[in-house]
Amino acid sequence: MGKSLLNAQNQVVHVVQRGETLMQIAEQYRTDMTTIAEANGIRDINRINVGQSLIIPISVAEMGQNQVIHIVRAGESVQSIANLYGITPEKLLEMNPQADVNNIIIGQSLYLDASILTRQSPIQPLSIGGNSETSFIHFVQSGETLFKIAQQYDTTVNDLATLNQISDPTLIMVNQPLLVPGVTLPEVALDVPAIITGLSINPLLFVEGETAQVVLTTNRTASVSGEFLQRSLNVATDTAGMTHRILIGIPIFTGTGVYTLTLQISDGTTTDNLTMNIQVISGGYGQETIQLMEGREELLTPAVEEEELKLLRTVMTKFNPDRYFVSRFGLPAAASLTSAFGTRRSYNGGAFDRFHSGADFAGVPGTPILAPADGQVVMVDTLNIRGKATLIDHGWGVYTGYWHQNEIYVQLGERVQVGQVIGTIGSTGRVTGAHLHWEIWVNGVPTDPMQWVQESFSP
Ligand SMILES: [Zn+2]
Repeated sequence: MGKSLLNAQNQVVHVVQRGETLMQIAEQYRTDMTTIAEANGIRDINRINVGQSLIIPISVAEMGQNQVIHIVRAGESVQSIANLYGITPEKLLEMNPQADVNNIIIGQSLYLDASILTRQSPIQPLSIGGNSETSFIHFVQSGETLFKIAQQYDTTVNDLATLNQISDPTLIMVNQPLLVPGVTLPEVALDVPAIITGLSINPLLFVEGETAQVVLTTNRTASVSGEFLQRSLNVATDTAGMTHRILIGIPIFTGTGVYTLTLQISDGTTTDNLTMNIQVISGGYGQETIQLMEGREELLTPAVEEEELKLLRTVMTKFNPDRYFVSRFGLPAAASLTSAFGTRRSYNGGAFDRFHSGADFAGVPGTPILAPADGQVVMVDTLNIRGKATLIDHGWGVYTGYWHQNEIYVQLGERVQVGQVIGTIGSTGRVTGAHLHWEIWVNGVPTDPMQWVQESFSP
């Protein structure tokens, strides 16, 4: 059970309606304007827009008596969730006036009275590969004992204690979240075409500038295609044609809001469609001002930039169905991270209309650059802005780039292994000093490479 569970669950997505003010919205959710403003990066509380999606953090203390939360998972609908609890969709919406029956959003929290959870659901749970988290949480109320809670949910003190790793059943705290066994199944009520046997989306809320993953399993050989943010998705399907993996890079200037992800699943005779609403939230990136070395200002001209980007896009939008990376990525140099991905940038006093598309590592010229994962060298070049540059294809639409190098030790087409020295840190191209600028592109979109150091996107 991940620690992030509670964070992910204690929020509601609210879409601003005509005539609403932030104060009204705050009152509706028993929270305050500052909390909502902070969670959504709102500077002026008088300026919210109709249709804008707001994340509403709900603190545990504000939860009602005996409420439980259902987090909307990929593939669920209001109807399927209502079925799951043996209630009508109307009843579910009555308990959740903020929900829109036609626009349910993955990751959205729905609130239910615990009293309706004393029965087993008639729906069979579907397995979600390795990612099955329970969706039911009971918050301990004043005066409750583990015994009382166990009785309420038709379970035993022992089962409750085991599931929640409670060593002393007499010690529980008010507002402590408890996972409830027995009513934890099923955690997902898929409302999807019959060919789909499993569906997971990770994370449930997408973040600007980060990578997300969709995994789909089918009960027979199928081919899958899809689209998100007007981009075609690349799908890596196993040899049996029954497991389909999609890596999605979320562009940094997407804008927070709800976007539709569509998938087409075809078995050769029929094609099924699946549509899901995905919430994209801000990555909370900061901003910085850059002063370039004298004599290099001409490198800021859009034509020079566009020409180089075009070249990179040509290479990094290709999809290689073979995967070379095997686990989390290593760091590209034994050097300190001096500038993180995503920072909004102004060059020589200009507007903040650019962003930092990689992570910078400072190092004395000559510091070795290491391949962070297995791959194949697909570009070795000297560019105006990026200087001596190398591109590595890691498969499945994942590429890494290394700019401003002093020396390059690899050749076009060469296979490289994780940890191999591929070049050295330098100051070629548009730089303020010697450093390695490291990029990762996923499905044609630059995203935060440090996420790949922290998380594994391998099966
Ligand atoms: Zn950089």
